[in-house]
Amino acid sequence: MEKIIFFTGAGISAESGLPTFRDSDGLWMGYDINEVATPDAWRKNRNLVQEFYNMRRRDALKAQPNQAHQLIARLEDKFRVTVITQNIDDLHERAGSTRVVHLHGEIFKMKSDRDGSTLYDIREDIPSGARAKDGGYLRPHVVWFGEAVPEMERALHLVQDADIFVVVGSSLQVYPAAGLAHSLSFGVRRFLIDRNPPPSAVDYGFEVIAKKATEGMADLVNLLEG
Ligand code: NAD
Repeated sequence: MEKIIFFTGAGISAESGLPTFRDSDGLWMGYDINEVATPDAWRKNRNLVQEFYNMRRRDALKAQPNQAHQLIARLEDKFRVTVITQNIDDLHERAGSTRVVHLHGEIFKMKSDRDGSTLYDIREDIPSGARAKDGGYLRPHVVWFGEAVPEMERALHLVQDADIFVVVGSSLQVYPAAGLAHSLSFGVRRFLIDRNPPPSAVDYGFEVIAKKATEGMADLVNLLEG
């Protein structure tokens, strides 16, 4: 079976009602990311950060996978599909994808801010001031700007072994994740689906499908299966 890697960003979940932040002048749901998505923000204003991610969890619970998530899952019938996502929502899993790597963590997991190695499932709000067993504060299991990306090495191995690489809904601006697109082996067929594709995509050899994710994925499936 040919191996396809889907590298997905916030744009794939936009049609499920979860907005990207780069499309709204660098604000994420009205918040400056420096105030809600950095270790410094957590130190300075834990309550605000907790509430911000509680809201993101509530939004993600309400959202449903869209046709783009579903088509990726369905391609598992014909290809060995792996999804590497920058998203913290679980819409790929709910659409049926069985191999999903979350580079930037998962909103439905939490951990201690001291020793983050144990993860706990969480569907509701994390109460402000809630403590883990080790005495640290419970925080969402998301990778903040300035933090290491623990899944990066695994993702790199997967990408280097790909036959086909498809980016869906990512501005390719958030590093180190975006660097995956530059580590592909020579000759790997590569596509980029984005409503507003980054101009550099063509320089990196991408076949660009300048459409929203649901329409672009339908085109891609026709191309791959046709
Ligand atoms: P981004 O916000 O930098 O870029 C989003 C990209 O999606 C843009 O290129 C935009 O043109 C494209 N886009 C917007 N609507 C689209 C649509 N309907 N169809 C196709 N493309 C569309 O997103 P990013 O590169 O993923 O980086 C933002 C970071 O913020 C991520 O690392 C992620 O951790 C976090 N984030 C996650 C979620 C989520 O989990 N759903 C949502 C917002 C932000």
